[in-house]
Amino acid sequence: MKHDCHYHPGDPAKWHCGECQVHYCSRCMPDADTRQRKALCPKCSKAMRYLGAATEVVPFWQRIGAFFRYPFHTDPLIVIAICTLVPIIAPANAIGLIIWLVLALALFKYTYAVINRTAEGHLKPPPVAEAFTGSGFSIVILQLLVFVLMGGLIGAAAMIGGPFLAMLALAFVVLALPASIMVLAMERSVGAAVNPMNLAVLISRIGTPYFLLYGYLILLTLASGAAQDFAVSHFPLWVAQPLAGFLNSTFTLILFHMLGYLLFQYQEELGFASDIQDAESLADNHQRDRSSRFDADLDMNLKDGNYDRVQSMLKDALKKDRDDPRRLGQLYHLLAARNDTTELYRYHPRLMAWLAQRNDGDGLNGLIEALQSVEPNFQLDDPDLAVECATSLYHRGHFKPALRLLQDFHKRFPNSEQLAPAYLLAAQVLANGLQQWEKASAFLAFIQKRCQTHPLHGQIDAWLEQARNREPLKGPKASFQISD
Ligand SMILES: [Zn+2]
Ligand SMILES: [Zn+2]
Repeated sequence: MKHDCHYHPGDPAKWHCGECQVHYCSRCMPDADTRQRKALCPKCSKAMRYLGAATEVVPFWQRIGAFFRYPFHTDPLIVIAICTLVPIIAPANAIGLIIWLVLALALFKYTYAVINRTAEGHLKPPPVAEAFTGSGFSIVILQLLVFVLMGGLIGAAAMIGGPFLAMLALAFVVLALPASIMVLAMERSVGAAVNPMNLAVLISRIGTPYFLLYGYLILLTLASGAAQDFAVSHFPLWVAQPLAGFLNSTFTLILFHMLGYLLFQYQEELGFASDIQDAESLADNHQRDRSSRFDADLDMNLKDGNYDRVQSMLKDALKKDRDDPRRLGQLYHLLAARNDTTELYRYHPRLMAWLAQRNDGDGLNGLIEALQSVEPNFQLDDPDLAVECATSLYHRGHFKPALRLLQDFHKRFPNSEQLAPAYLLAAQVLANGLQQWEKASAFLAFIQKRCQTHPLHGQIDAWLEQARNREPLKGPKASFQISD
């Protein structure tokens, strides 16, 4: 069964919580450890089952071309070349025989590594070193044991039930051989690889595609045999021998890659999980951080309609980092969408600072309207913030609310450094926005009289002149230096 993410329909699920019966994609689980295949359910905190790439693997019958290209990479070509060419030039004595034996073992080991690595999701061949180093040569003996046991099984069947039962046993052994090789490669256990129950379960879980694969295997074996036959009968022996060896090894690699891929494709049914391994997904694994987990939780709760939960999560986050712009923005959008005026009022200084920083005059205008429904005489207590917000409002053409924020500034903040910038802004709103030149002049006159030490005072005559001529009050551009 292929599943989509519960929260992102269309995205393949990578995790499944057996407790909650919910599927999650990788976007929902940014904190998951895909390499260790560990993740905790965001809802119940229980360990989840990793689904790997089972939900997005291309079926093997759609990538036949890729199977044939598989041996034609540097690493497998080197292994094949060494293992088929060296024995030919080796001396024809005991040493030559040992060389031949060792290289045959190496090739054998390499082909089993192909199954393992493919089943784990590596679609590129294993490195050359895999053939010649490390442990794992025992696989050869194990495979021989499997053959012996299978022969014994047929013999036993013949003794107990005569030729008919022997034929039946032979048919089963032949049919189950690829399954047996797969089990042996993955589990390295002779018992598991010859256990008829084990093999029958594997075949029945894969179902029809197993027989499709079987068909391909027969075709490939026939093709390989025909090609080798052609080589032997059409070329001199010194060409035919390495050529046949090369063809044999190449087809074997293709076969084993197919077997591995079948395991990879049916990993979910077979009870293990792996994902396509490449540099990108490894890099992803390193980007596990708290804030992306938090965002994924927010997203899920929003989609579930748990708005109260989202609200309290955001409030908690803002307790830890008072001015986190990301969380402030999320809280603002949530409260605005819910029209929660009480909470908007509670958080208004930080929300307004966030909006002013983004120069969102329209947002500020909407927020102030909401705040006025709670507190009709709403005013800001922070002179710096008041000037900042009024500036944003003025730039977006919201003149009345801008003036409101600056109202009685000299009474509310008599000693503020912001008094001159505030009243210059008020004059600009009145003159440029509302064409009320007399009132604008009055504010300018106030600055002239009361703020003689302020740097803006030097230009006040020019602005008074502009107001008298009913010209727009220009600049000073970026004049509102907000001092902390
Ligand atoms: Zn998702
Ligand atoms: Zn759960």
